[in-house]
Amino acid sequence: MAREIETKCLHLEEEEGCSNNYGAVSYPIYQTATYAHLGVGKSTGYDYSRLQNPTREHLEKVVATLENGLDALAFSTGMAAIALMMELFHPGDHLIVDADLYGGSIRFFHNVSEKNGITFSSIDCYKEDIESYISENTKAIYIETPTNPMMNVTDIEALGEIAKKHNLLLIVDNTFLSPYFQNPLDLGADIVVHSGTKYLGGHNDTLAGFLITNREDISEKFRFLIKTTGAGLAPFDSWLILRGIKTLGIRMEKSQQNAITIANWLKEQNAVTKVIYPGLPTHPGYEIMKKQARGFGAMLTFQLESREFALAVLEKVRMIKFAESLGGVETLITYPTTQTHADVPKEIRERNGITESTLRLSVGIENVKDLLDELDNVFREIEGELHG
Ligand SMILES: *Cc1c(COP(=O)(O)O)cnc(C)c1O
Repeated sequence: MAREIETKCLHLEEEEGCSNNYGAVSYPIYQTATYAHLGVGKSTGYDYSRLQNPTREHLEKVVATLENGLDALAFSTGMAAIALMMELFHPGDHLIVDADLYGGSIRFFHNVSEKNGITFSSIDCYKEDIESYISENTKAIYIETPTNPMMNVTDIEALGEIAKKHNLLLIVDNTFLSPYFQNPLDLGADIVVHSGTKYLGGHNDTLAGFLITNREDISEKFRFLIKTTGAGLAPFDSWLILRGIKTLGIRMEKSQQNAITIANWLKEQNAVTKVIYPGLPTHPGYEIMKKQARGFGAMLTFQLESREFALAVLEKVRMIKFAESLGGVETLITYPTTQTHADVPKEIRERNGITESTLRLSVGIENVKDLLDELDNVFREIEGELHG
């Protein structure tokens, strides 16, 4: 019988009933660079930690299980995973990518991949006619859903059918929902990307990235590339991510519950002109989210009445931290214009709807009453100052 995901965060079925590692319940950290051979041609299965390390391998197996993949590879960061994934492509190849993506991915595609001869069409995958952008040299479609930071929702299954029909890879960055809420491979994706720094690690203390695939040929290519380029996750960091994953379920549930409460509170504020959260029934992607995901996540974006108001919020928050990143136990507030999306050209930012009064909240697991108290104090203080 297939296990539920909370259980899969804690137990690897294939290792049950074995008494490996003296029965240690917490997987050991194999802090070693190399492995001694018992003789010529007698490898222990591990030869050098750039190729593989038992702690990293254990983490990779857990993550593959969570995403229903054949193989998962763990990297030093999310960007290292994306950089390696782009090695699948050759000069002359063309990719269709979401217009509203993590800023670092946009920077990578336009400053590194383009130099290597790869071309891109950046379009709103949730609403545009994808097929009209496909040409002879198109090799893949790369999306996030919901997108960062505008929370646009794309129908993964529908896109998977288009990708299959035209023999394209469908690549989904699943960082925002984590495998707890969404499994793109089950919906027709070929490759899933994660910044493990976010919900998988979950504690704002470790950087990591993942590539997961259900295709044997792609797994083989990735294994060759990770061995050759060397951005595999270190043993201690692998252990920290393993430890984070153990509580993925309860963290996702609690932070989502807090996010729904905060989204509804923000909606009632005079200073807030728009709340973008896919868990609100008024969100255009709400029905698709209900169809393809098991939850709505804990990321929300909102617009304030003015740039002054937005900046004042960032100046005045104390418990809520004004910091980049997301997906950890602590609530963080971000200013996409100067932080995550600073390197995205202004006209593209504005076309995507990111303005100087846009803020993004990664809701954590604090008691929601304390979060609302802080936001309420901050809002009332600013209203007093700006409107006297
Ligand atoms: C943070 C992030 C990345 C990059 O991951 P790092 O671990 O910071 O390198 C990629 N995609 C999304 C959606 C992210 O939020």
